[in-house]
Amino acid sequence: MASYGASSSSAAAENPWTPPYCSVVAVDTSAFCYRVCSICERTLSDTASNCPVCSRRIPNAGSKHVYRLLVSVGTVDRVMVVVCFDRVARVLMGCSADDWTDFLGAHPSAREKVGELLQGEMLRMTLSRSRKGNAEHLRVASVVPLRAGFRPVIDRLRRLYGVEAGAPSSGHRGC
Ligand SMILES: [Zn+2]
Repeated sequence: MASYGASSSSAAAENPWTPPYCSVVAVDTSAFCYRVCSICERTLSDTASNCPVCSRRIPNAGSKHVYRLLVSVGTVDRVMVVVCFDRVARVLMGCSADDWTDFLGAHPSAREKVGELLQGEMLRMTLSRSRKGNAEHLRVASVVPLRAGFRPVIDRLRRLYGVEAGAPSSGHRGC
C-alpha cells in the first residue's frame, strides 16, 4: 500500500494516488465551470438555452452550472495540472457553481483573486485517471484542506467585498 505512486512513473495514472500533500501553484481562472441540463446533467453548448433531449418532454428544462476547475499543484517530485469537478471544487470554493457565477457577475474582479487566494494552499488530494480514460489531466477524486483554519474561497471573497452570505446579487451570469 505504501508504494502507491512510488513504484513507477506511470503508477499515478493507473491507481488512485494520494501524494502526502499537494500545494496549489496556480488556478486557471479563465473558466471555472460549464453549463449542464438541470435534469439529465448533459453538457449544454454555450448557445443552447435548453437541453435538446429533455426539452422534448419538459417545456423549460433549464440549466445549471457545474464546476470544472483546472488547478496546477506541486507535490514531492512534480508539478501537474489536475481537474476538479463539481463535488471537489465545492470544497475549495465553498458554494455551488450557480452561486459562484452570480457572485462573479456582480464582482468581476473576483476572478483573478481566486488564484491569489488558493495559491500555496496545502491540500491532501486523491488523484485518479478520468473515468473516460482519454482525459489529459488527472481527476481529483477527493480533497481535504490541510491548513488549520482553511476557509473556502467564497467566504474570504465575501469578507473582502463586504458581502453577506445570501445577499441578492445582480449582473449577468457567465463563468
Ligand atoms: Zn437534459
